Amino acid sequence: MKLYLVPTPIGNLDDITLRAIKVLQSVDGILAEDTRTTGFLLKHLGINKPLHSYHMFNEHGSIQKIIAQLKQGKTLALVSDAGTPAISDPGFLLVRECLDFDVPVECLPGPTAFVPALVNSGLPNDRFTFEGFLPHKKGRQTRLEALANESRTMIFYESPHRLLKLLEQLAEVFGPDRPASVSRELTKLFEETVRGSLSEIAAYFAEKPIKGEIVVCVGGKPEASRSEKRNKKGDDYYKQRHTD
Ligand code: SAM
Repeated sequence: MKLYLVPTPIGNLDDITLRAIKVLQSVDGILAEDTRTTGFLLKHLGINKPLHSYHMFNEHGSIQKIIAQLKQGKTLALVSDAGTPAISDPGFLLVRECLDFDVPVECLPGPTAFVPALVNSGLPNDRFTFEGFLPHKKGRQTRLEALANESRTMIFYESPHRLLKLLEQLAEVFGPDRPASVSRELTKLFEETVRGSLSEIAAYFAEKPIKGEIVVCVGGKPEASRSEKRNKKGDDYYKQRHTD
C-alpha cells in the first residue's frame, strides 16, 4: 500500500530518472492527469500499466475510490503531464487524504520547471518564494500588491499570451528597473533565458511572437543597507524629538 508521486520530463525525455522508471514498472496502476500524454511516455519507456484518469475536474469525485484501492494493498503512482505532480498540478488533495487515512506517500525527486528557471536566472536563490500561477482576473492585483515588499526572489508560472501583461503588472508593483528573468521552453530545442530589468525584458518580448512554456523570476526588494538603516533610525529619533 503506497502512493508514489512520480515527476516526469518537462520537455527532454532523457530527464526521466532511473528510479521513476523503476517505480512506474513496479506499481499496480498509474493515475494520470492526461492518459494520452502519459500513454506516449509509457510507450517510449516500454511500460504497460493500467492508466486511470486523475485531473482537476475529477479529483474530488475520485479520491475515495483511490483511497479504497490503496487500502486494499495496491501501490499506485500519480503523474502529471509534465514535471512534479502537485506543483501547480493536481495532487495536493490526494496527498492530504492519503495522510489522513494512514496511506504512505512518497514523492520522488525529479523534473520541475521552477528549479532550473531559478538557478538560470542568476538572481539570489538562497531564499525564494514560489508563487505559481497568479489568478487570471479576480485577486490578481491583490496577490501582486501583497508581494510589494518581498525581499526574496519570486517565481511565477505564466502562459505565453499573458506574459507581456504580467511583465507590465510586475513593473507597476516593483518598478521597471527591478532585475528579472524569463525562462522559456526549458530543456527543449528552443530553450532560452532572457535576463535584465523588467522593462528590458518586456521590450525584448514585445518584438516577437511569444510561444512555449514560461517561468518568470523577479528579484526581491533590496534589503536596506546597514548605513541606510542607521540613518533611518537617526531620522526617526530626530522626528520624535521634534514632535514631542
Ligand atoms: N508540475 C509542473 C512543474 O513541476 O513545474 C508545472 C505544471 S504547470 C500546469 C505548467 C507550467 O509550468 C507552464 O505554464 C510553465 O509556466 C511551467 N513549465 C512547465 N514546463 C516548462 C518548460 N519546459 N519551460 C518553462 N516553463 C515550463
